[in-house]
This record gives sequence, structure tokens and C-alpha cells, in this order.
Amino acid sequence: MKQVDVLIIGAGAAGLFCAAQLGQGGKKVLVLDSGKKIGRKILMSGGGFCNFTNLDVTPQHYLSQNRHFVKSALARYSNWDFISLVASYGIAYHEKELGQLFCDEGAEQIVNLLKAECDKGGVEIALRQAVIFVEKFAHHFQISTGSEQFQAKQLVIATGGLSMPSLGASPFGYKVAEQFGIGIVPVRASLVPFTWKEGDKAFATLSGIALPVSVSTPRKTFTNQMLFTHRGLSGPAILQISNYWEMGESVEIDLLPSENILDILHTLRQSSPKLQLKTVLARYLPKKLVELWVEQKMLQDDVIAQVSKSALQALAQLVHHWQFLPNGTEGYRTAEVTMGGVDCHEISSQTMEANQVKGLYFIGEVLDVTGWLGGYNFQWAWSSAYACAQGILTSGQK
Ligand SMILES: Cc1cc2nc3c(=O)[nH]c(=O)nc-3n(C[C@H](O)[C@H](O)[C@H](O)COP(=O)(O)OP(=O)(O)OC[C@H]3O[C@@H](n4cnc5c(N)ncnc54)[C@H](O)[C@@H]3O)c2cc1C
Repeated sequence: MKQVDVLIIGAGAAGLFCAAQLGQGGKKVLVLDSGKKIGRKILMSGGGFCNFTNLDVTPQHYLSQNRHFVKSALARYSNWDFISLVASYGIAYHEKELGQLFCDEGAEQIVNLLKAECDKGGVEIALRQAVIFVEKFAHHFQISTGSEQFQAKQLVIATGGLSMPSLGASPFGYKVAEQFGIGIVPVRASLVPFTWKEGDKAFATLSGIALPVSVSTPRKTFTNQMLFTHRGLSGPAILQISNYWEMGESVEIDLLPSENILDILHTLRQSSPKLQLKTVLARYLPKKLVELWVEQKMLQDDVIAQVSKSALQALAQLVHHWQFLPNGTEGYRTAEVTMGGVDCHEISSQTMEANQVKGLYFIGEVLDVTGWLGGYNFQWAWSSAYACAQGILTSGQK
């Protein structure tokens, strides 16, 4: 049976980064992953260019039932630390918008960086090794893939969430938590597109149209692009609000956040009364959306002078306060992250070690920590991995 100091399950962002720190700190480290490749999600991320962090990272960019949990790890390994590491590898990067940093050449640059860091620490990585069982003994853990058994003094669970099963997502990390009596905050797909209700399916004809909107739930508002799709609504504004949305709740969408359509219509009613209402609206909103409203009798097909003030008010309500009730979301198939996970009240925010299970650690997305869209989830992977590695390295010195 192979014996190591630390065994890490999951060769994703968190697992690889943690392994590199530990290896470079002198630990004998083995990383197991069920997939054929390391860093599969990283390769797919940011449209193939990996949005690896953000220029502005604060605890407010994260959701967790334990809202103070992220503070320590983010402070100890910050976005600037990871940016320096990226720069030290000569990887060119750029800011796309809102502080989001992407590689210039491709996401494989980040995977190569992580592999090089692991190599520096002599980390061993074994692929096509799906762990099916772990067991704790007095001074070690025993880990089984069915065909092979491993022994480790410390065990790090870096198995990620449930999003994108095609990229190896599995509930194994949650099962390990449950096995050791650690709570799980209920999970759901997040950073995910919404789907149409039956009655809204006519909007599917607008598929491909994007426009800037403000979208709100009672808890949050985001202003960014929204995209109509065949199945529902997507785009950054929608993905962001999905973190703050609950099933059965409507979201309010302002389709023209930079203007006041009622003021515009009142002014035009005086100055250009013979203008068609739909022509005016099409100056500010996608023409196809305006045509669909006319077809659906949501918009009067008339010159502006013929439209009553109350009808204009109702139209302004539709433009600025569209109440959209999603049928649901596209689910884990397309979600970027999983909301919920291993309950952070039961994990040390300093070291990521389970409070009641010595030697067992959870890092990255498997924890109940969900970042906004924009590089925040990778930053959590780096920061939590670093905290864990430091915790393990210093635990031996005590
Ligand atoms: C399409 C897509 C694009 C994204 N883009 C971005 C982005 O640009 N910026 C950003 O910040 N975030 C992005 N994210 C989110 C980000 O990828 C994740 O938050 C991050 O990868 C989580 O890292 P992790 O190491 O915790 O888990 P993962 O990267 O999911 O790694 C977990 C690993 O564990 C392995 N595993 C699971 N179970 C077992 C088992 N039983 N045995 C062995 N191995 C197992 C899996 O194969 C996997 O390799 C994106 C997500 C997706 C799906």
C-alpha cells in the first residue's frame, strides 16, 4: 500500500494549488483525480482564457451561510499574490471588464503554471483514479479507489461541486463530509441561466439578442448584459443574479437602465405626436422585442398621440420593471458553480481543517462558499488551498 504525508482528492484548481504548496514545503504529496487530465474546469473556464482572479476581491463578493468564513483565507493569499505568481511565469493577461483578469493566450497557461508548481514540489499526480471510499484510523487515513489503497496522515478533499458532470463533477466530497458527521448546506446550481415558463416561450424567438439591463431580487441588483436564449435568459447579469435567486421568486428586470422611458415618451408626445410608438421604442430597445410586444398585444400599435397616459405608464412599468418568473434554471449541466456545500461552521477558517476530525481538510468549491461571476471562484480555490497548505505545514511544527 502506498503511503504519503498528504493525499489530495481532486486535481482541479484548489487541489493542484494546495499540492504545490505542500510539496514545496517538503511534504510527500499524492493527488488523485478520476479524470484523464488535470485542471479540466480551468481549461474550459473564461471561454478558454480562464478568468483567474479579479482586481477587486472582498468578502462581499462571496455567499456562504457562514459569512465571515472567507475573510482570513482571502487576506492571507490575496488576488495580488496570485497575480504576482502569474506574472512570475511571464503569462500575459488582460482586464476584460469589471476587474476580471484573463490569460491572453489561453487557459492552459494556468494549468501549466500549476503543473510546474507541483513539479517543483515533487508532487505525484495519479489520473483515472476515482476514489470511492475513505476511512480514518487513529493516526492515518486509508483511501480506496477500488483497485488500489493508499495511506496518508492528512486527507484534503478538493472534489469541487456538482456543476458540469461532463467535467468530472461528483458528490463524493459531500459524502465524505456526511460520513464524518459534518453538515451540508443544501446545494443547487448557480451562476446559471434561467429557463422560460410555458407562457413565456414566445420570447425564445429573440434568441441571440443581448442588451444591457439591471436585474434585481429583493437582495441584490446587477447591471450588465442579458442574453435571450432558446431556453430562457442568460448573460452575465442573469448569471450573477442567479446566486441571489430562490426558486419560485420573480426577478425584476429594467430593460433600459440608463434612461427614463416615461420622460422620453411624454416629451415626444408633445414634440412628435405622429411618431409610431413602436418606432420610438425601437430606438432604445431591440426591434424584435418591440415587434414581439406588439404581436402579443402588450404594446399598442399606434401613433404616440393616440396612446393614453395610463397606457404609457403601463409601458414604462414593463420596460423598467419587467417581472420575470423563471420556470427554473438550466441546472448543473451548464451552471458554473454549486451554491451550498460543506458547512463552513464546521471547518476552521484558518486552516480548512474539519473542527471535529483531525487531519481532514476541505478546500475550494466543495465548501459552502460561492463567489460572484468574474474570477472570484478561482480566487477562492487559490486562497482556501493556500490556507490549508499552511495549516498542514505548520501543524507538524507544533
Ligand atoms: C464552464 C465553467 C467556466 C468557469 N469559468 C470560471 C472563470 O473563468 N473564473 C472563475 O473564477 N471560476 C470559473 N468557474 C468556476 C471554477 O471553475 C470552479 O469554482 C473551480 O474550478 C473550483 O475548483 P475546485 O478545485 O474546488 O474544483 P474542480 O475544479 O471542480 O475540481 C474537482 C476535481 O475533483 C475530481 N473529483 C471529483 N470527485 C472525485 C473522486 N471521487 N475521485 C477522484 N477525483 C474526483 C474531479 O474530476 C475534478 O477534477 C467556471 C466553471 C465552469 C463549469
